[in-house]
Amino acid sequence: MGRTILIIEDETAQAQILKYNLESAGFETLLADTGGSGIASARAELPDLVLLDWMLPDMSGIEVCKTLKTDDDTKTIPIIMLTARGDEDDKVRGLTVGADDYVVKPHSIKELIARIKAALRKSGSDDETLSFADIVMNIETYRVNRGGNDIKLGPKEFRLLKTLLGRPKKVWTRAQLLDRVWGTDIYVDERTVDVHMGRLRKAINKGGRTDLIRTIRGAGYALDESS
Ligand code: CA
Repeated sequence: MGRTILIIEDETAQAQILKYNLESAGFETLLADTGGSGIASARAELPDLVLLDWMLPDMSGIEVCKTLKTDDDTKTIPIIMLTARGDEDDKVRGLTVGADDYVVKPHSIKELIARIKAALRKSGSDDETLSFADIVMNIETYRVNRGGNDIKLGPKEFRLLKTLLGRPKKVWTRAQLLDRVWGTDIYVDERTVDVHMGRLRKAINKGGRTDLIRTIRGAGYALDESS
């Protein structure tokens, strides 16, 4: 299971090529074809990185970048801008509104992936392991342990925990968790989240350990010690 990359690109063919290549390289992808839907998706799903096209139908990539970089929830997500222009002024403009890197189209997919990995490394999110309190998850081997003891999780519980571990203490709504774990293409009842969260809680708290999953009434769930 890789890191999630949100591709904001209005040219369908280009977006599909990126999606295909990034998935082949082990990333998970989300697609948005307008600036507005890209911003909404970034806020709802908190991807690990955003690939942002410079020219979008509803607003400029610069505007999207500015918006994401001034929003507390999304400002730490690295953004790589994609543009057909090679203009130095544009590059400077992109970087001054907070873009982390800038790639001129056409680019080689190899180079793009190298840039993505570099940006993820800089943002500290390329580690193989995620941890919080005494829970450690290895996202390459799918192993989870708490205090040194292996924890067996089903695939949905694993993804739920991975999502929570990605942003400890952040309160996730059921809708956000559904999007991250079940995907945006299918309809799943929000109560399904409660069922799987119940299983996850049981698995990680086995043996009377401190409950690390906080339920926030009317809001959702968080991974938090102070529960
Ligand atoms: Ca475009």
